[in-house]
Amino acid sequence: MRKSYLAAAMTSLALLTGCNNQDSTMNNPFFEEWTAHHGAIPFDRIKTEHYKPALLRGIEEEEREIDAIANNPEAPTFQNTIEALEYTGALLNKVEGVFYNLMECDGTDEMLALAEEMQPILSKHSLDISLNEKLFQRVQTVWEQFKANDFAGLTTAQQRMLKAHYEGYLKAGATLQGEARERWRAVCSELDSLRLSYGQNVQKATGEWSYQLNAETDLDGLPDFYTESLKANGYKVTLLAPSYRPFMQYSARRDLREMLYRAYNSRCTSGQYDNTDNIRRIVTLRQEQADLLGFQTFADMRLTNTMAKTPESVNNLLNQLLDAYKKPAMADVAAVAARAKADGITDFQPWDFSYYSEKLKTEKYNFNDALIKPYFSLERVKKGVFGLATNLYGVTFRKIDVPVYNPDVECFEVIDRDSTLLGLLYTDFFPRETKRPGAWMTEFRGQHINPDGTEQRPIIQIVMSFSKPIGQPTDSTYTPSLLTYDEARTFLHEFGHSLHGLLTKCTYPSQSGTNVAHDFVELPSQFNENFIDEKEFLDTFAADWQTGEPIPQDLIDRLHKAQTYNSAYACLRQLSFGMLDMKFHTLGALANGSIQMADVERKPTDKYPQLGNIEQFEKEAMAPTKLMNTVDGTMMCTSFTHIFSGGYAAGYYGYKWAEVLDADAFAVFKREGLSNAETAARFRHLLESGDTIDPAELYKQFKGDNPSIEALMRRDGIVK
Ligand SMILES: [Zn+2]
Repeated sequence: MRKSYLAAAMTSLALLTGCNNQDSTMNNPFFEEWTAHHGAIPFDRIKTEHYKPALLRGIEEEEREIDAIANNPEAPTFQNTIEALEYTGALLNKVEGVFYNLMECDGTDEMLALAEEMQPILSKHSLDISLNEKLFQRVQTVWEQFKANDFAGLTTAQQRMLKAHYEGYLKAGATLQGEARERWRAVCSELDSLRLSYGQNVQKATGEWSYQLNAETDLDGLPDFYTESLKANGYKVTLLAPSYRPFMQYSARRDLREMLYRAYNSRCTSGQYDNTDNIRRIVTLRQEQADLLGFQTFADMRLTNTMAKTPESVNNLLNQLLDAYKKPAMADVAAVAARAKADGITDFQPWDFSYYSEKLKTEKYNFNDALIKPYFSLERVKKGVFGLATNLYGVTFRKIDVPVYNPDVECFEVIDRDSTLLGLLYTDFFPRETKRPGAWMTEFRGQHINPDGTEQRPIIQIVMSFSKPIGQPTDSTYTPSLLTYDEARTFLHEFGHSLHGLLTKCTYPSQSGTNVAHDFVELPSQFNENFIDEKEFLDTFAADWQTGEPIPQDLIDRLHKAQTYNSAYACLRQLSFGMLDMKFHTLGALANGSIQMADVERKPTDKYPQLGNIEQFEKEAMAPTKLMNTVDGTMMCTSFTHIFSGGYAAGYYGYKWAEVLDADAFAVFKREGLSNAETAARFRHLLESGDTIDPAELYKQFKGDNPSIEALMRRDGIVK
């Protein structure tokens, strides 16, 4: 059955794209072992036509491996079932690791088309595994045997892994029978394709919009660093972050700010890249998944293996923060609106916020990005960020000359204190049209110990969207990439994720690196951000890129004072996203009347609550956190990739959850010393442990106590 399906799929693919080129199989780099430079990826030899045959062979290989486990004549054991499952799909993982990462940061139209073509095949493949009855029976047998014996003979990590595999099967629909099983399969497969379509809509709508500024009349208020980068782009302003954000912050042209705001916030709300129907369908299908598995809502289903565990505890935290931060946030916005009023703006609008917030901050603290940028050249920030890992964990970085997929990309060997290799780190810092906007960390491959006892060290990448240097270093007009305060913070954030991926020392693939509960995964990254406000850290790198003058003490003092500026506003913004996410994913609770929303209706004939007007739904979901006018025709959920195409559905709250942890952890460092070797060693242990220990327990091992919300409120200036 499996074989005939694959044959059919391959025939139809061949029809779509012509016969497989013999060469793409014969000389396909994915079919070789990559031994040069610790497994560095041979980007110079990988061509688009190599992906498909490699993906198809990867699927076939994994099918054979799964078959062998499922049909093993020996009685199921932990080793021949659970451990064996950990190591299936090596080739497929290898190809996917490259293909999907490159699709995000160098995605050509051919790659996007191939992703679409492969999606139903890959989706079926993973469903075939998760719905394999023989396999599930073996997993269940192992689970029941060990459970009956109190898990005797297994390490803590193995116990967690066994539980994760067993529950993973339950949540993947393994116990469903008959019609429900077929329906489950159809729902999962449709969801996969909807997620892909949603994400591609956002990428295209963001990438294709631009506005030609008039260099004579449209640059009012824009600082030099920004007009220089605009000039390099032919004075076109775009919706990509390095272009959009500074424009909203600095442009004195209210009409243009309004135009940009409307363009940005109406992405995918209608027209060619409309995502509203995708949202309706995704939300309904996710609710159906929950129903099929016997959960009240999708959020209930998603949260079982997190720190939070239930929607109630998520909502508790969000509401606790809402209570504490709402008033200060209203005061933040009122102060900015008052500043605008002084300039004659009586109808304060969302497109005025960044601009007047920046103005007020400059006036109040004499601190802004234009002042800080000269001290934050990318080269220097890089030195500081890498140096932080050296200072805390003894880790060093050595640039190596290996093939890259774009000239902007660099690769580093990451070396531990004892001179052993931790892994490779690729950096990709500048925006491109073929790159999704934003910043992220990914793995080309993860860490684990192979069954033969050898170790695979990780290959990690961080991707940013900083403004490019202007000209060549030899030009008299050369300007390096100069980062804003927020960009430097984002760099630290993604670098924190990459340390989590690089330092990891686990046995099994599914537990290593960043494979942890989603409300724990932002702890290492957000923890790292804290350093940006510390003089001790800034002194290690921040100096004027032209004169080498260190950042003045007085500027650091002002930066400190400005640190809590609008922090309550920023908190409410995050809460609004978290609450919107939870509302979308707890629609099932409408059935018992525990939530009510005007724009969701459930006619007696409907199996599931139906989203009506998405814009109204969003407005209502965000009402408790509302601080400014909402603008008709705009919404954020149509470009909310985290929850509709990324992995954050019913998980956006995780940023705030982890923020409680990161503020608490950093307070420990502040108390014991930022460079305290013993404290750093305890934190490194947390970074090394992956998912081998319960995260709450792991955190307690670091701190010696449970986290509390106090440190976050203190850091934000909400309590003194
Ligand atoms: Zn993150």
